[in-house]
Amino acid sequence: MKYFILVIPFLALLLLAAHSLRFGDYGLMGAFAVLAGLMFTRQAWVRWGIVAALLWGGFIWADATVNFVNFRHMFDLPWKRLAVIMATIILFDGLALMIMLSQRSKGLFSVTREKSLARGVVFVLTILGLSLARTNASFPILLADRYLPGWGWAEIFALGVYAQWISGLMMQPRGHRTLRPRIWGVFSALFFLQLGLGLLGMEQMLMTGTLHLPVPALILGGPIFRGGGFFMLILFSVTILLVGPAWCSHLCYIGAWDDGMSRLGPRPAHSSVLRRMNIAGRGTTLLLTVATALILRSIGMSGSSAIVFAVFFGLIGVGIMAFVSRKVGMMTHCTTFCPMGLVANVMGKISPWRIRIDSDCTRCGACYTRCRYNALDESRMELGRPALSCTLCGDCVSACADKQIGYRFPGLSSENARTVFIVLVVTLHAVFLGVARI
Ligand code: SF4
Ligand code: SF4
Repeated sequence: MKYFILVIPFLALLLLAAHSLRFGDYGLMGAFAVLAGLMFTRQAWVRWGIVAALLWGGFIWADATVNFVNFRHMFDLPWKRLAVIMATIILFDGLALMIMLSQRSKGLFSVTREKSLARGVVFVLTILGLSLARTNASFPILLADRYLPGWGWAEIFALGVYAQWISGLMMQPRGHRTLRPRIWGVFSALFFLQLGLGLLGMEQMLMTGTLHLPVPALILGGPIFRGGGFFMLILFSVTILLVGPAWCSHLCYIGAWDDGMSRLGPRPAHSSVLRRMNIAGRGTTLLLTVATALILRSIGMSGSSAIVFAVFFGLIGVGIMAFVSRKVGMMTHCTTFCPMGLVANVMGKISPWRIRIDSDCTRCGACYTRCRYNALDESRMELGRPALSCTLCGDCVSACADKQIGYRFPGLSSENARTVFIVLVVTLHAVFLGVARI
C-alpha cells in the first residue's frame, strides 16, 4: 500500500507520453513511458529524473493550454471547458511533482542511494545538452533522427540513462581510474567507426557530408587556414572552460589512442627530458601549425593540397604513439607533440579546477607511477601541485590511500569537487557520444 502514492506521478508521466504520441513524437512518448517504467526499479536517481520530467511537463501543458485556447478563440469556438480540463491536468502534474519531492517518496526510492542526486543531475544535464544541440542544429544532428525520423528523443533518453550509470560507477573510489580509459576508448572507436562507415558510402554517418581530417592540430590550424569554420575551436574552448584540460584525458578522439599505446608499455616513470619537451616540443608544433596555416592561406593553396601537410603531421603523431609512448608507458604524443595539448594546459588555467597535494602527504610515491602525463615527481609533491601537463585525469587521486591528493574547486570539499567534476565530464562525454562525428 505504501507505494500507492506513486500511482499519481506514474499516471502523470503516462499522460505526457500520450500527449507526445498525439503529436507523433514517438521518441518522446517512449522516453516518458520508459521513465514511468523505471519507477519500478526504485533506483534513487530515477526520482530526480522524474522530478525534472514533471517540472518540464508543467511547461508542456501550459504551452499546450495557450495554443489550444488561442486556436478556439480564432475560430470563435467555446474554450472555457477546455481551459478547465487543461488547468486540471496542470494541477495533476503539480501534485505529482509534490509527491515526488516529499520525504515519503524519498523513502520509497531506496535502491543505490549513494550519489543519487549527482547521478540524477548527470541524467538531466545530458538530456538538456543533447536536446539543445538537436534543437539548434540546422540538420538532424542525432543518428536516430537520421535513420528513424522522429525517434531522436529515444537516443537522447538512452544516452541520459547511460551517462547516469557511468557517473555512478566513476564516483566509486577506483571507478574513475578503471573506467575512464574504457569509455574514452569506446568514444574514440565509435567516432572513427562512424568516419569509416561514412567513407564507405554511408553518408548519414558523417556530420555534414564535408570531410576534414581528425587531427587535433586542425582544431586551430583549420580555421586559420580557412578563415572560418570555428565550430570545433568553440567546442574545444567551452570544454576547457567547463572542465579545464580534461579535454585531453576524457574527450579527445586521438588522445585515447595515445592513452591506449602508453598502457601497452610499463608503468610510467617521470622523465625530466620529456618534461622539458612539454613546453618546448608542443610550443614548437604550435608555432609550426599557426605559421603553416597562415603561409598556405597567403599563397592561396587549395584545401585538398593543404591536407597533405595535415596527413604528414598526423602520421608523425601516430609514430610517436606507437614507438615512444608504448616504450616508456607515458603519453608522449600528448605531452610533447600535440599543440592542442599545450593550448588545453595553458587555457585550462582559466578554469577553476585544480589537482592539489595536501601537506600531510607521506611521499610514498604511489601516485607517481600512475601519472601518464609526466606531471608528478618528488619536486612537484614538495610544491603541492602537479606540473603544467596535468590533465585532471584523476588516476593519481584513487591511487592515494591517505586521500592526500585530490580535486580542488573554490568553496567545495575535495570529495564534492571530485563529484561535481565527474558530473560535468561524464555529461560532456555522453553529449559528445551523441553528436561528435566528422
Ligand atoms: S594532447 Fe592533443 S591529441 Fe592528446 S588529448 Fe590533447 S588534444 Fe588530443
Ligand atoms: S597529476 Fe594526477 S590528475 Fe594530473 S595528469 Fe597526473 S595522474 Fe592525472
